[in-house]
Amino acid sequence: MRAINLGFSLLEVKQMAEKGFNAFKMAQEQFDRIAESLELDGGTRDLLRAPLREYHFSIPVRMDDGTVKVFKGFRIQHNDARGPCKGGIRFHPQETADTVRALSMWMTWKCSVVNIPLGGGKGGVICDPHNLSLREQEAVCRGWVRQISKNVGPDEDVPAPDVMTNGQHMLWMLDEYETISGGRYPGFITGKPVGHGGSLGRTEATGYGVVFTMREACKEVELEMSSTTASVQGFGNVGQYAIELYTKYGGKVVCVSCWDQEDSKAYSFFKEDGVDLKELRGITDRFGSINKIKAKELGYDVLPGDAWLKQDVDILIPAALENAITGETVADIGKRVKIIAEGANGPTTPEADEILFNRGITVIPDFLANAGGVACSYFEQVQSNTNYFWPKDEVIGKLDDKMTEAFYSVMEISKRRNISLRDAAYMIAISRVAEACRLRGWV
Ligand code: NAD
Repeated sequence: MRAINLGFSLLEVKQMAEKGFNAFKMAQEQFDRIAESLELDGGTRDLLRAPLREYHFSIPVRMDDGTVKVFKGFRIQHNDARGPCKGGIRFHPQETADTVRALSMWMTWKCSVVNIPLGGGKGGVICDPHNLSLREQEAVCRGWVRQISKNVGPDEDVPAPDVMTNGQHMLWMLDEYETISGGRYPGFITGKPVGHGGSLGRTEATGYGVVFTMREACKEVELEMSSTTASVQGFGNVGQYAIELYTKYGGKVVCVSCWDQEDSKAYSFFKEDGVDLKELRGITDRFGSINKIKAKELGYDVLPGDAWLKQDVDILIPAALENAITGETVADIGKRVKIIAEGANGPTTPEADEILFNRGITVIPDFLANAGGVACSYFEQVQSNTNYFWPKDEVIGKLDDKMTEAFYSVMEISKRRNISLRDAAYMIAISRVAEACRLRGWV
């Protein structure tokens, strides 16, 4: 079966749109391929290849200069057979209904593969928050909720932050929802700041989740994690917390790459004895860019941006952006590499994926490896619904259980059918949703 990759950033989706691609069409084609191998019946295919419900609405906002501007908003609910829809709200000038449709479908599969009782949804507003004052942003948030409040909620559809939205936006939306509903419903939305309904451990969740799946993959390929080495692309939220937990397990990261704003290019930072996370964090800005002059002073070799991929290590962790491993660059990967854990969305192109599968490298696919974030959002929802918040160790322990269980369910199918973990993950995700629809009597 041809390898597939469904994790696309909005930038990538936009670039594809410019080349004439349509994200939703692509998501449907990818679904059709898996549906074929699962031998799903026609009714189930028709149901799952399109969203269940779509809401398109106008949000009038009084701007700071006194004029009224009307923004276009969306909420698209792809499927809720397994539980309330879950998915972010994007603020972006290039947002389109088809992009939101595709992203809502991908959320259904992501929640399903980690077996959390949620479906998939996505929302958006066509706007550029850079051009809006804080007051105008608040008005957009409250206006979005006013238009959709009857069709979202803790039991129906739970929004979250996404591209260009943050915890403050979520709190404005929560406040508007509670004002309309006349109660306190902290489980209406996730991504809230800690202390205001947010979950401890959310910051670490994605990076830690990547390492939990890596730990289990090591066992499968008979590597002792504590004696492995790794190389990482990206030193932001995912990269830093993946390095933190991996080194706690005794692994050694010898190379980290990141983007340099000043030079507009990437560099890799190498240290044979292993990078020192605390030291590197001390010379990194809030965008995850490491200061190359200070790194040199600390004894790091500053190498070209793609050097991270060429290291003689056991594990590669692409945790920066899409298309990092392509048909061209895949040949640069060292002979020793046994595991690639996709922290980023869509870091491996389908062409490279096939080559890696044939080389026997275990690729832990993005929507499994980086699902720790959505799993923790689910934990936030559970805590918010009960208004009882767990200590951080409990959150991380539950995250470990979820990721480990998800990893093995995917591994089992992959071995049984001799297919990649990516294809196995999609088969599990889609078959679980199909089964929920069947048991409900929908198909
Ligand atoms: P971030 O913005 O915090 O960090 C991104 C890092 O990548 C920075 O260190 C940046 O310098 C580096 N980078 C950018 N371009 C690069 C290049 N060409 N070469 C090398 N490094 C480069 O982002 P993040 O939250 O860590 O997310 C990273 C990836 O993980 C993205 O694909 C994102 O969609 C995905 N992801 C993140 C989460 C999450 O919870 N943060 C969840 C799921 C998936």
